[in-house]
Amino acid sequence: MDEVECVVVGAGVVGLAVARALANAGREVLVIEAEDAIGTQTSSRNSEVIHAGIYYPAGSLMARSCVAGKLALYDYCAERGVPFQRCGKLIVAADAAERDRLGAIIARAAANGVDDLVELTAAEALALEPNLACAGALLSPSTGIIDSHAYMLALEGDLEASGGMVVLSSPLVGAAPDGDGLVLSIGGTEPMQLRTRLLINSAGLSAPAVARTIAGLDAAHIPTEYYAKGSYFTLSGRSPFSRLIYPVPVPGGLGTHLTLDLGGQARFGPDVEWIDAVNYDVDAARIPLFVDAVRRYWPDVSADRLQPGYAGIRPKIVPKGAGAQDFVVQDGSVHGIAGLINLFGIESPGLTASLALADHVAGLAAR
Ligand SMILES: Cc1cc2nc3c(=O)[nH]c(=O)nc-3n(C[C@H](O)[C@H](O)[C@H](O)COP(=O)(O)OP(=O)(O)OC[C@H]3O[C@@H](n4cnc5c(N)ncnc54)[C@H](O)[C@@H]3O)c2cc1C
Repeated sequence: MDEVECVVVGAGVVGLAVARALANAGREVLVIEAEDAIGTQTSSRNSEVIHAGIYYPAGSLMARSCVAGKLALYDYCAERGVPFQRCGKLIVAADAAERDRLGAIIARAAANGVDDLVELTAAEALALEPNLACAGALLSPSTGIIDSHAYMLALEGDLEASGGMVVLSSPLVGAAPDGDGLVLSIGGTEPMQLRTRLLINSAGLSAPAVARTIAGLDAAHIPTEYYAKGSYFTLSGRSPFSRLIYPVPVPGGLGTHLTLDLGGQARFGPDVEWIDAVNYDVDAARIPLFVDAVRRYWPDVSADRLQPGYAGIRPKIVPKGAGAQDFVVQDGSVHGIAGLINLFGIESPGLTASLALADHVAGLAAR
């Protein structure tokens, strides 16, 4: 049976970043991906925003890896020629009550080490973005946007330059501990068995399902998966804004915001829709809900400029109404299987956090 030192399951942005970090540390790495291309799931169905790290609970893995990941990602993009733009974002208060909550957002951001937020009066915000309606705003200068596919290609290139590789159409279908490693069963057109010393489960939405195929892994350590879909609608014509525009967050979500792609095209979303099974359909019947939400900060929005765009699904590990969840990274010290690291619930800001999460996983793997 062939043996590879480290196997990463899933060629999304996180799996690729982890594989790169392991290869950079001199380890032999293979990434196995179920689909026939890299990054076809959540990593290509998101807002492509480099988040500042404002809202996450202080001290959480999410907060730490977002703030560290953001800095690392800007440097990486500059070094590797990955297209990005530090366009900034405005968090806009629609009324006086929301304006009163801006101070709490500044305090929470500061607790996470994000100390560059600038509070703006309505007139100052309008001077930046004349089409806006608001009672006040916060400017986050360190928020930006990135070409996530170019980023994944750069990660894959680094991995290959360090001797690692990605194999496509190769789903992990089972694994069993064996001595000081694991024996993997890989499906696809050429099913095979492979021995590895280190298995990283970075399968995104499927990470809990993959974990359930690992013999001997106590079910108590495998979270139930929940799917919170987010749909996007693109705005035809010129964008009315040059920065990202977010409402003051509502309990349970960031609100229906406006993001831009690197071509300057605006889109609204993602909203939150809890679903039972994966589907990426975008339902045009949601347009009136979007128009109502957007009108609070852009009164000129009209339904006929919105077109169904795309959808992504947040890999939740707590059900609707359960509140915030942190990223979960479990190694053998948690579940008892040496050489196995599971990543669960890597939702937003997983793209921003990817390089820092990769360092975290590589650090656990080195122990
Ligand atoms: C609507 C939405 C908006 C978001 N916006 C942002 C944002 O603006 N900024 C930000 O920082 N983050 C954002 N995120 C979060 C970010 O997109 C994710 O955290 C990140 O893409 C997760 O990457 P991943 O590699 O863990 O998962 P994925 O990209 O889902 O990759 C998992 C891979 O595993 C593969 N796989 C599954 N099962 C198997 C198997 N058995 N064998 C082999 N391979 C398998 C899949 O095919 C897939 O390629 C957003 C997420 C959503 C849903």
